[in-house]
Amino acid sequence: MNLYPTADTQSALSDKPVMELRRVSRTFMVNQGIFRGKKPLQAVNEVSLKIHRGEVLGLVGESGCGKTTLAMMLLGLLRPSKGEIFIENQAVAGWDLLEITSKVQPIFQDPYSSLNPRKTVGQSISLPLSVHTVGYKKDRKQKVEEMLEAVGLPRRFYNSYPNQLSGGQRQRVAIARALVMNPQIVICDEPTSALDVSVQSQILNLLLKLKNQLGLTYLLISHNLAVVEHLSNRVAVMYLGRVVEENECGRLFSQPRHPYTQALLKSVLLPKPGQGVADANLGVAFPNPIDLPPGCTFHPRCSQVMDICRTKAPKPVSLDSGCVECHLYQT
Ligand code: SF4
Repeated sequence: MNLYPTADTQSALSDKPVMELRRVSRTFMVNQGIFRGKKPLQAVNEVSLKIHRGEVLGLVGESGCGKTTLAMMLLGLLRPSKGEIFIENQAVAGWDLLEITSKVQPIFQDPYSSLNPRKTVGQSISLPLSVHTVGYKKDRKQKVEEMLEAVGLPRRFYNSYPNQLSGGQRQRVAIARALVMNPQIVICDEPTSALDVSVQSQILNLLLKLKNQLGLTYLLISHNLAVVEHLSNRVAVMYLGRVVEENECGRLFSQPRHPYTQALLKSVLLPKPGQGVADANLGVAFPNPIDLPPGCTFHPRCSQVMDICRTKAPKPVSLDSGCVECHLYQT
């Protein structure tokens, strides 16, 4: 029996990308100490991705690989240092935060800190409507009550406070708040990792049901490969700021090409319930992102390393329905 819902019943996907990233990079200047000055840290390095309408794109990788920085750029909380982000074929570079949040909404992992304890459930869910001045107050109350029902909560919760709700109920409130503006894309950042295992599958079922009912598009960021496998249509694997492999979900899990993807999938077999892939168990420690190895940045940890890998960075290669960045596949 599967713990999580499958993506089989998802609505037909559109060819048109709702969101597109073209060679997006983000660099931070990191202080090295009084005498050593600052050095650049490339958190995201020329990432190109397309997310299609009705699709769930899973994004996986170890902590520190750049997933969160990427999500913050998509949410408009950080600007790319290079490259462009498009929503419905329009470059967002000139948009303000208000415009971006009308199209992109987040669901974060911790419903305890993402809700204001001093605001009622109704106030929290209606906040995006007030900020974007959508409808009159009476209409907003009606819309919020409809959203409460949509996420499986009774309308009477409108006047409740977060401390009166369980973790799962709070996450349902956070989902209602994210969806109340009918966003084009929802960034689900570890949406169940702070919840009890018994509640996780309920929240995942709810996310999938709402996606199908409302025609939503998700970017699903998760350490939990079981969650990613069962919810995603496509999966992108990040390593040190780059997408090193991307493919249809079934193909990526049954036929991983990149040695890093293969190591990630193997790590799932370790008997650590609930821990996902926080550590890919690659033996050699995660490299210092300020001092990246030359050539392929994965080479110090790669079991299939070749001489060329130590000096020359691989380029992305298209293979069947996806692409991979590794010298093993360069012709
Ligand atoms: Fe391993 Fe070389 Fe491929 Fe990098 S390019 S993943 S080091 S085989």
